Amino acid sequence: MSADHPDCMFCKIARGDIPAHKVYEDEEILAFHDIHPWAPVHFLMVPKAHVDSLAQVDASHAPLLGKMLALAPQLALQEGCRPYPEGGHRVVINTGREGGQEVHHLHIHVMGGPRPWLKG
Ligand code: 5GP
Ligand code: ZN
Repeated sequence: MSADHPDCMFCKIARGDIPAHKVYEDEEILAFHDIHPWAPVHFLMVPKAHVDSLAQVDASHAPLLGKMLALAPQLALQEGCRPYPEGGHRVVINTGREGGQEVHHLHIHVMGGPRPWLKG
């Protein structure tokens, strides 16, 4: 799998063309700090292979998305979120313009830490 959309911001990050503060990386997934955090902990998880949004996902993506979702709580703890149930975290996937999506490369927001937060 490759991050092969030349003008896509998150493909550029996945390729290493743009620097990011990495939280996790394997062959198919990259997680990195959001550049404008809404919460004390705020990172994004992206598949390295470009997918525009959750709206383009089909059954072939299910194992990858399942892996990402299962990884989110582990990374949240690693990044400083307190454990469930007192702590926890929020998982958000903005999809499409009305869904609040600004970067059109599928990404999972993971946010947590003490409130209040800027957003979310
Ligand atoms: P969306 O609104 O598409 O769900 O969220 C896009 C997120 O990507 C925003 O929270 C924004 O701060 C973050 N973002 C946009 N460009 C960059 C970038 O170049 N680097 C990093 N680390 N985050 C970015
Ligand atoms: Zn992309």
